[in-house]
Amino acid sequence: MSSKTRSIVAIDGPAGAGKSTVARRLASLLGWRFLDTGAMYRAVTLKALRTGISPEDEESMARLADAAEIELRPVGGVHKVFLDGEDVSAEIRGPDVSKSVPAVAALSRVRKAMVRVQRNFAEAGPVVAEGRDMGTVVFPDAGVKFYLDADPTVRAARRAAERGDADVTKTLAEQRERDRQDSTRTQSPLTRAPDAEYVDSTGLTVDEIVERMLGRVRDAGQG
Ligand code: C5P
Repeated sequence: MSSKTRSIVAIDGPAGAGKSTVARRLASLLGWRFLDTGAMYRAVTLKALRTGISPEDEESMARLADAAEIELRPVGGVHKVFLDGEDVSAEIRGPDVSKSVPAVAALSRVRKAMVRVQRNFAEAGPVVAEGRDMGTVVFPDAGVKFYLDADPTVRAARRAAERGDADVTKTLAEQRERDRQDSTRTQSPLTRAPDAEYVDSTGLTVDEIVERMLGRVRDAGQG
């Protein structure tokens, strides 16, 4: 391993590309920890919705993000998300949070607070980190980087199936809007790092993707 790289696998990509499933599986196979950064932005968004603070009020949002205690930890083998000590793992996946999260994640001071927590998490040992800016901004020195993508219709169909929602057209429209906001914002927009390997998951199974990634991690002398 070069001195410039760290034992971090960075996986970025748009909504519904399968990042969480793949990252969780890869982390488990490597015996590394799993860092779900989308869950962190979702938890801050939930806190803002509960307290009635608007993303337009950046000052209050920054204070809220600084004060929020967000913890990611496995409980009985399941990855859980805690906000100020409360298990919010299910609630952060709801439609209200999903709709509001890009506006919250676009705020530079919210991002600064989250990036601090994310880097602290990785200080404690090797991680598989997934999000939108892992390879570009948070961990530019990650040993291995991937950009996981898939055909938008396939991504929406997967999301709809996960949620038990038959309305793929609606899911596709929501996903398109979230991707647009995440890719066009000024702060840490979703973009492929030049040194990230592009993986199109459209025709691949989870096992096939994980196997390919594991091979790359081992080729890089990690894991
Ligand atoms: O990955 P997930 O769909 O849970 O992410 C929710 C939202 O959090 C994204 O749509 C994006 O707005 C934001 N996010 C981000 N940076 C990350 C991870 C997620 O801005 N590293």
